[in-house]
Amino acid sequence: MEQNILDCVIVGSGPSGFTAAIYAARADLKPELYTGLEPGGQLTTTTEVDNFPGYPDGITGPQMMMDLQKQAERFDTKVHYELITKAEFSNEEGGIHKLWAGNKEILAKSVIISTGATAKYLGLDDEKKYSGGGVSACATCDGFFYKGKDVVVVGAGDTAAEEATYLAKLTNKVTMLVRKDTFRASKAMIHRVENTPNIEVKFNHELIGIEGENALVERAVVINNLTQETSKIDVHGIFIAIGHKPNTDIFAEQINLDENGYIKTVPGSTRTNLPGVFAAGDVQDHIYRQAITAAGSGCMAAMDAEKYLAELA
Ligand SMILES: Cc1cc2nc3c(=O)[nH]c(=O)nc-3n(C[C@H](O)[C@H](O)[C@H](O)COP(=O)(O)OP(=O)(O)OC[C@H]3O[C@@H](n4cnc5c(N)ncnc54)[C@H](O)[C@@H]3O)c2cc1C
Repeated sequence: MEQNILDCVIVGSGPSGFTAAIYAARADLKPELYTGLEPGGQLTTTTEVDNFPGYPDGITGPQMMMDLQKQAERFDTKVHYELITKAEFSNEEGGIHKLWAGNKEILAKSVIISTGATAKYLGLDDEKKYSGGGVSACATCDGFFYKGKDVVVVGAGDTAAEEATYLAKLTNKVTMLVRKDTFRASKAMIHRVENTPNIEVKFNHELIGIEGENALVERAVVINNLTQETSKIDVHGIFIAIGHKPNTDIFAEQINLDENGYIKTVPGSTRTNLPGVFAAGDVQDHIYRQAITAAGSGCMAAMDAEKYLAELA
């Protein structure tokens, strides 16, 4: 029996994947979406989402993702609760792309990759214990909840410096914990940190624990790695800013990635170096990393796929 060739397969079920599905389905591409191991994506790990337009009272991350899925399914997107384990992309215009979910082979004329990125954590048990109760990996998402309070930022690179200067505008005081005796950030970012009066930088300091009541952060436990002396800092929020890992391992051999593993897209579009393969959301965006920008690029990817297929016909 001849295998069905799909017009559009979407890999990933975060805001970019489901938005791509809504647009692709409404353009009659009959998309099939693979959720991966985290149906709903990163937002299912958070409680309050207060910055997605259209929810005046805010919404929980899991509810928002269920709403997006429902909207995609309303237009007949087929959702598979499976992980894509292998990809073999054609590099010819009009070529057929192959994906596998375990032993199942999937053929598609166009593929939208929206596999997101995963925030890196230090690996402390306390990070999990206080996740949603003061530990965060996103100042833009959660900084607002710490208005006028004291927070800690862990990290030494540009992201950490950016998160710290952003939080300094909202909070009373930011303490930056830098493991080594220098920053890894660019000179310009270091300059911004040094010129922000309510940021205190503690070099050679590491976070080793978190204390609090009712799973809410009250203190950061830190160690001076030169003297081995431990101390505690009273804070309400702890922002881990040590980077993200884009989920691109299975595509790495075939698609052009930047030096940090993010998929490279043609500026102003979601096109990758391969015809008919598009990338949307955090997997191709190390700068904005927001639900709304992921959704926006998911819309772009579906429109790019629709245009690509129309031009083949
Ligand atoms: C704790 C937390 C709180 C946040 N709060 C906010 C907020 O308040 N506001 C905001 O705008 N943003 C927030 N963000 C950021 C926001 O969640 C992300 O920017 C957004 O989810 C990115 O969407 P995405 O579609 O690119 O990917 P993700 O949401 O990362 O989803 C990726 C999807 O790809 C799937 N996947 C991965 N690999 C495979 C594979 N091989 N096969 C099939 N599927 C695969 C995963 O299962 C997942 O469904 C928060 C992030 C975190 C972690």
